Amino acid sequence: MPQSNLMMNRPMLISGILEHGASQFGDQEIVSRETHGPLHRYSYADAANRARQLANALHQMGLRIGSAVGSIAWNNYRHLESYYAVSGSGMVMHTCNPRLHPQQLIYVINHADDEVVLFDATFAPLVKGIAAHCPKVRAWVCLADAANTPAIDGVANVLNYEDLIAPHSHTFDWPELDEQSGAALCYTSGTTGNPKGVLYSHRAIVMNATAACLPDVLGLSTQETILPVVPMFHINAWCIPYAALVAGTKLVLPGPKLDGPSLFELMDTEQVTISAGVPTIWMGLIQHVEQNNLRFAHMKRTCVGGSAMPMALIAKFMDNYGVEVRHGWGMTETTAVATMSNLSRADRQRPAAEQHAIVAKQGKAVSGIEIKVVDENGHDLPRDGSSQGELMVRGQWIVERYFKADKSALVDGWFPTGDIATIDAQGTMQIRDRTKDVIKTGGEWISSIDLENAAVGHPAVAMAAVIGVKHPKWDERPLLFIVRKPGQSVEKEEILAFLATKVAKWWVPDDVVFLESLPVGGTGKVQKNDLRKEYGGVFS
Ligand code: AMP
Repeated sequence: MPQSNLMMNRPMLISGILEHGASQFGDQEIVSRETHGPLHRYSYADAANRARQLANALHQMGLRIGSAVGSIAWNNYRHLESYYAVSGSGMVMHTCNPRLHPQQLIYVINHADDEVVLFDATFAPLVKGIAAHCPKVRAWVCLADAANTPAIDGVANVLNYEDLIAPHSHTFDWPELDEQSGAALCYTSGTTGNPKGVLYSHRAIVMNATAACLPDVLGLSTQETILPVVPMFHINAWCIPYAALVAGTKLVLPGPKLDGPSLFELMDTEQVTISAGVPTIWMGLIQHVEQNNLRFAHMKRTCVGGSAMPMALIAKFMDNYGVEVRHGWGMTETTAVATMSNLSRADRQRPAAEQHAIVAKQGKAVSGIEIKVVDENGHDLPRDGSSQGELMVRGQWIVERYFKADKSALVDGWFPTGDIATIDAQGTMQIRDRTKDVIKTGGEWISSIDLENAAVGHPAVAMAAVIGVKHPKWDERPLLFIVRKPGQSVEKEEILAFLATKVAKWWVPDDVVFLESLPVGGTGKVQKNDLRKEYGGVFS
């Protein structure tokens, strides 16, 4: 008879990651932009000491296992300490997206039962507006010292982080929790209805953080320096704050300064080798680099996701600057990255344009995740690279049900993502659209992502978005929005003629609207709902 249960059953806990980082790589650096400007630097060991101080402070305030602590904050070292202190001591770290509408922010803070909210000074006006509507919050803690904590009129219980933790011990007995217990909470930034919460377990986060270190995912190690531009207020900054400590990687946190010049300077001076963010961030960075004739001295790769990375931008990073692009896919419901583009050894011998096309796909499922596509009736579609259907996902860090929901979100054990995708025989997945964004015309589908990608390939185009507009004959037809690059004067006819050489004739949009900028939401995605509201009338 084979025996079972002969191995230790140690729980996977976030406190374990912190203590691993501090004890194995104690002198590794964390560099962080303060909200008031200067750079702060210290070691993993210092971070762990301060996280334990915060855990003691929260305990003294009366918070216990299961209590929720909110944050409205940038990527910085105090936020990082909170990630570990709150979850490590069995509480729930509820990261709030500051770009939610204040009403939605009030909703999520109340729905999560946050008892303390940590915030950056930048968001003091936001706190002033919402505090009176969040009766369960006992203290608003500014992630700053006394000198940099603003007084907030009408909000009495404002503390500052440094004074809060100062009296407390550097030691804390992390509880041995069930690895399935809730560690972090993030709400979807859905455009309709109230946001829905996803409660990540310790297990999900530890598994994802470990997988994220793999060479073909983020590729973290003690040799690298990573700068997560992806916000810690949204899907755990792709678990990079955890993964860095798993691998012993130097961590560089950009604080509020996410513009091209600030990011470039940080990458240069801190010798950043890996970065992660949404395409709009990389557009700002590359514009700055091009305009000023700069080179990346240390950057090896940039990991991108959140929305589709245009091929033209992939080509720029890879060909002009020698920076590899890795294109990942994930959503609030998947803890962090679930798939990642991958150039095999053979792929790396292919012509540049073919490599860009491979990277433009969202790639292979990370170990621990399974993906498939299904048709409208839920039947599996072939992995042939062309059959499109809804992307379904399951795995060790995928949501089962939303926070406080009474029923499962799954269909036959799989999470329906609302994304339309293809998967090829090698398992490479490509997102074609969101189910709500795909343009249904004459019984066929047009991928808004493909059209946008093609439009951004025009040298005068900075950004593009496509929506479907009702049409009496065809059901829907595409309408293209263009933001021109500075100093460019390209007109509709030229754009449409250009697109006619790139896509099927029936894909060419019926009209083009030129805008100064596109409405971009809190997580870096173009808000197509806003465009639909204003322009989604009827084509005649
Ligand atoms: P959120 O839950 O706000 O992070 O949004 C998740 C959604 O962003 C996914 O369901 C996709 O529609 C979209 N998304 C994420 N990554 C990508 C990507 N690499 N390419 C295209 N869409 C993406």
